[in-house]
Amino acid sequence: MKAKLMKKGAGLEDSMSERCVFCDVNSMNGRILDESKNTITILSNPCLVKGHVLVMPKRHVEKLSEFNKEERVELIEQVTKIQEKLLEKFKGCDVRQNYRPFQKEDGLKIDHLHIHLQPRELFDELYEKCQVHEKKIFKKLNKEELDDLTKEVFQTNPMTDDSMKEIFEK
Ligand SMILES: [Zn+2]
Repeated sequence: MKAKLMKKGAGLEDSMSERCVFCDVNSMNGRILDESKNTITILSNPCLVKGHVLVMPKRHVEKLSEFNKEERVELIEQVTKIQEKLLEKFKGCDVRQNYRPFQKEDGLKIDHLHIHLQPRELFDELYEKCQVHEKKIFKKLNKEELDDLTKEVFQTNPMTDDSMKEIFEK
């Protein structure tokens, strides 16, 4: 398997780029599960759950909008393939991507975009220790929040049932 990874900024960047562990194939030694032209798939270490896998582009990008179309298509195809593989052994599998530029990079936070695939079971450790608390955070969206989000964040008018009906009848 040839896993040649590209350096961030093609050498123009400072020593920060040299430290990106996901641009350094040696940091993945023994953990690489699969690769394609533009992606690499590894076992996460540290891992949050058993079977925690990361799918990432070989090229150093930090957010989804930096992909070209080929990379985007290939990444989602690889995520789909790996999820299907995990679902042969586990009952469920979460797919997640974090973009938090306000957080400093460390062993758990890496700027090089990666998609987490986390196998899930009913009442697993992740549920018992973390997600059980989400129930307390979830709340109903009220009219004011709905207006604020649609107008301020998305700058659109919320679709009505009637306009949706038209779209689906097309
Ligand atoms: Zn990188």
